[in-house]
Amino acid sequence: MEAFKLDKKIGFQVERSKLETELLEPKTKNLSRMYNLLLKWNTQDETVKSAMIKWAQDVGHNIMFADWEQLWTTGMKFTACNALRENIMKMIYRWYITPVKLAKIYHLPDNKCWKCKETEGTFFHLWWTCPKIKAFWEMIYNEFKKVFKYTFPKKPEAFLLGIVGQMVLKKDRTFFMYATTAARILIAKHWKTQELPTLEEWQMKLMDYMELAEMTGRIRDQGEESVEEDWKKFKDYLQKHCKIKEC
Ligand SMILES: [Zn+2]
Repeated sequence: MEAFKLDKKIGFQVERSKLETELLEPKTKNLSRMYNLLLKWNTQDETVKSAMIKWAQDVGHNIMFADWEQLWTTGMKFTACNALRENIMKMIYRWYITPVKLAKIYHLPDNKCWKCKETEGTFFHLWWTCPKIKAFWEMIYNEFKKVFKYTFPKKPEAFLLGIVGQMVLKKDRTFFMYATTAARILIAKHWKTQELPTLEEWQMKLMDYMELAEMTGRIRDQGEESVEEDWKKFKDYLQKHCKIKEC
């Protein structure tokens, strides 16, 4: 973590614009140059570094080290549930298999997306840019606006990694982490199929997590109030918008 602090002061800030220029350049030959740039930052793990570069390329702009650091430290701690944390780890490291990866490994002729069957199935296409998945995230985004009662930018790093910055109010961030992770776990459940999760599936999953959070709160002795506060808006939302009988 010491290295991160140092990066923030010198390397990162100074070289940011240079890196940004390189990241915006879509040609992959720049990858090695960027990689060298990152090596100088003297961060620990090579795998993390290359994953971070790919994420920056995908979202189209650099993600600040401070934001990654926050995700590693506080962002991961919103839950004690391993399935949820595992999903975040898998997203950071981009561990999900894709048609493009499969085609490369097995020399398959078809590397098209499992959902739309039209475009190359890259990691980012499957998670964000595919028209089918786009529609799903749009639905989830609309539900967020109903829960929070305000709007915020729909950014891939927020929905896919939980890097929200100041876009979502601090008191809503724990719920945001649960709700986006729930959506991703459901997407992963329908991985390799044309199917997408439904709104009801997402709501049900979140109801499970709400119970889980209440238990976690009790185990960790957080006090009922903070857990109650995290889920208050969601409970109000369920009363108004949920069509499932159990609500
Ligand atoms: Zn697609």
